[in-house]
Amino acid sequence: MSSAEPTSTELLSSLLTTIERAIIPLTRDGVSSGSKVFGAAILSRGTLAPLTVATNNERVSPLLHGEINCIQQFFTVDFPSAETRPHPRTDCVFLATHEPCSLCLSGIAWSGFREVYYLFTYEDSRDLFAIPYDIDILQEVFRVKGAETAEQMEARPLYNRSNKFFEARSFQDLVAGVEGEEEKRRWTAEIERVKGLYAGLSEVYQEGKKSGAESSSVWK
Ligand SMILES: [Zn+2]
Repeated sequence: MSSAEPTSTELLSSLLTTIERAIIPLTRDGVSSGSKVFGAAILSRGTLAPLTVATNNERVSPLLHGEINCIQQFFTVDFPSAETRPHPRTDCVFLATHEPCSLCLSGIAWSGFREVYYLFTYEDSRDLFAIPYDIDILQEVFRVKGAETAEQMEARPLYNRSNKFFEARSFQDLVAGVEGEEEKRRWTAEIERVKGLYAGLSEVYQEGKKSGAESSSVWK
């Protein structure tokens, strides 16, 4: 490992600041022209400063999710030389505004990032953003039906959040590592405040969908 473990509060502070100052301004531009609200960033593990920031660009291709866009930009635009590129496994932290879908989880595994954090869960994407496809695709494409009952299958997690490639944790999971009840409450409130900034952005996207803003995705 190339640097000391950041603490939960250092991580929360940097992750939330990156979303508010770097990802949300980009997202605002994207949603008004028909892209979804999803964004991502790759942070330096040593300084926790953002190295690459990107958002969804489904106007161009349905595969350009925020995370995939971010990985592409990291490798091909920001750090095209392998010699000077921060190592995904040891030098980087991956941030997704929303829990990554199956496409993006695979993209993260293939590119070697091992530490992943997300603000909104799949359930949030479905319930707060009217975007149910993360869960839908995992259930329909990947969840092989076996001898279990429907209930047992429902109870099974949709993927391994902790696996040999990476560990994926929500911001709320990070709060568990914060010391002191008062501090825990303070960080939970801060997470809620930043989540609240998305309410307006989601409305712009949903309004655009109704009025037919162009997106190449068939799943809107
Ligand atoms: Zn995705």
